[in-house]
Amino acid sequence: MSIEYAPTICPYCGCGCGLYLVVKDGKIAGVEPWNQHPVSEGKLCIKGRYAHQFIHHQDRLVKPLIRKTNSFRQATWDEALALVAAKLNEVKAKYGANAIGMLSSAKCTNEENYLMQKLARAVVGTNNIDHCARLCHASTVAGLAAAFGSGAMTNSIIDIEESDCLFIIGSNTSEQHPIVARRVIVAREKGAKIIVADPRDTQLARMADLHLQHKPGTDVALINGMMKVIIDHNLQDKEFIETRTEGFDEVAKIIKDYPPDKVEEVTGVPAADIEEAALMYAQAERGAILFSMGITQHTTGTDNVKSCANLSMLTGNIGKAGTGVNPLRGQNNVQGACDVGCLSNVFPGYQAVTDGKKRAKIAEVWGVAELPAEVGLTVVEMMNAASEGKIKAMYIMGENPMVSDPDLTHVKEALESLDFLVVQDIFLTETAKLADVVLPAACWAEKDGTLTNTDRRVQILRTAIEPPEEARPDWEIICMLANEMGAGNLFSFKSADEIFDELRKVTPLYAGMTYQRMAGDGLQWPCPEEGHPGTPILHVGEFSRGLGKFHPVEYKPPAEVPDEEYPYILTTGRIMFQFHTGSMSRRSPMLDGEVKEAYIEINAADAKELGIKGGDTVAVSSRRGRIDTKALITNRVTRGVVFMPFHFAESAANVLTNSALDPIAKIPELKVCAVNIEAKR
Ligand code: SF4
Repeated sequence: MSIEYAPTICPYCGCGCGLYLVVKDGKIAGVEPWNQHPVSEGKLCIKGRYAHQFIHHQDRLVKPLIRKTNSFRQATWDEALALVAAKLNEVKAKYGANAIGMLSSAKCTNEENYLMQKLARAVVGTNNIDHCARLCHASTVAGLAAAFGSGAMTNSIIDIEESDCLFIIGSNTSEQHPIVARRVIVAREKGAKIIVADPRDTQLARMADLHLQHKPGTDVALINGMMKVIIDHNLQDKEFIETRTEGFDEVAKIIKDYPPDKVEEVTGVPAADIEEAALMYAQAERGAILFSMGITQHTTGTDNVKSCANLSMLTGNIGKAGTGVNPLRGQNNVQGACDVGCLSNVFPGYQAVTDGKKRAKIAEVWGVAELPAEVGLTVVEMMNAASEGKIKAMYIMGENPMVSDPDLTHVKEALESLDFLVVQDIFLTETAKLADVVLPAACWAEKDGTLTNTDRRVQILRTAIEPPEEARPDWEIICMLANEMGAGNLFSFKSADEIFDELRKVTPLYAGMTYQRMAGDGLQWPCPEEGHPGTPILHVGEFSRGLGKFHPVEYKPPAEVPDEEYPYILTTGRIMFQFHTGSMSRRSPMLDGEVKEAYIEINAADAKELGIKGGDTVAVSSRRGRIDTKALITNRVTRGVVFMPFHFAESAANVLTNSALDPIAKIPELKVCAVNIEAKR
């Protein structure tokens, strides 16, 4: 028997923990921690510990599938690719390139995402390329880019330990980013104060010095209130504001209208707690903000992120260790998929598609005459366009919008109305079940490439075992399809390293990285030239945009608020033992054994009033649909607020959620909608 230990990166969340895959006779037998890894230092959460369990699952897709009426038949690669290429070329010829929409994947490597957007732009000829970052942190990218010039975590995960005060808003860190939570605990042990702002009473909230349990969607009011207290106590960093920022006066003007007692009325947080939180953060030597989807998935998501940027600049808490504004990204490569251009408005490296010079430069590297200049459609816009008959074909790689997107009834109707749908994945997901062609992909342990974690660390993923039967790495499939579509020599790559070499030519943030340099600890971007050590802390001495920009942000209520018909606020999220649409974690016996089905958290007083007991089946309805689920009676949520995890397709919370969009980032309001609850007798 041969046993090997293959170093790699966890396939679940954006922490980017290192682990060893134990390979026994060509099969993955387990996971061992990587003690020297710079992020995880030998620690893993339960998802990482059992990250191997779905790899050899019997449900793996192993051959291409072609639809035959209500079922699929197995096909050869030649047959499947010829059909996909012919259909996409046919739609392009008949309706134009913009009748095709493409979704890339935050689960795939940088190289694969790079190729997917190149296929969209250079071969199909559309900027209709997007991915699930649109549903989680598009507002982070927009908000932080506007304030600082760079839309990513400003500091490093290890740096959290240096903080004297952590203001954690909209992040259930101990369940969703446990290895980051570990650093928060270390900081606390070293004396840091912890403030958690979360509508739910989470494990992290219980260990915090102060829990601000604000109403969902009232983040801007809360932060404006804190800023008013800081200015009233003359605790703002005047020198920092004067020398490093612009636009402060307009912010100072509007926050006069946010005294704590008024903010209490909007947020439900006692005025004294708002005051205490503001003083705790402002009086700390080094204060850091951590946030996640609790603030980004709103129609005011970009405003929420800009508010965090305002608060950090007001107190000079940026550009040094233990400070910063730190978005915690959800998926293992959602940062990378954004970095390499899988967004409808930017090329790799966040270079605007509307910028003629950038377009010309990238076209030259790719060897094409021109590239599309018009900003493309985002995830939700593509679904709307499909149901209106404007998008006729979609190519979806490693995403499962039939569980992850808001208003699922509408998503199903949109996907069913397409002339042609091709899905590339490792399992027959709820979305793949609707496809005309399904292409079997290799999983994370079966391919080479790089992943970029939440603190901008680009790390190498190496093949530990071969893919099952005829499954292929996504990058190989894209190359084969591009060649079949007539892309000439644009996709003649023989390895992931070769793709990376081209990627770094058009992605200035990655220009100095090579596989050789990334071996070991990886490199944090920006890394503009070879020899550059990478950048653990952004905006030291100067912001990426020069001066940091304050944005006056007024509180706006969510798109949908409770009324007589739908009297409860539903907020959705993840749980520790499941991940995203469940396609991997629900096929992991250890994870699935912990929590197997959906539920709704209802406050004990509300439940009593409704005559609902724990474990009862309840019907939950919104303006968009209705589902049945189990009641979990708890005081983790306040009266009038209910919570559901969104992982479970059979009681999908996203049947209920609202697809109303943030006007700038086009992120849907997954965190707030109005629902009704009825006991089922
Ligand atoms: Fe994997 Fe995230 Fe857990 Fe680390 S914290 S082991 S990256 S799921």
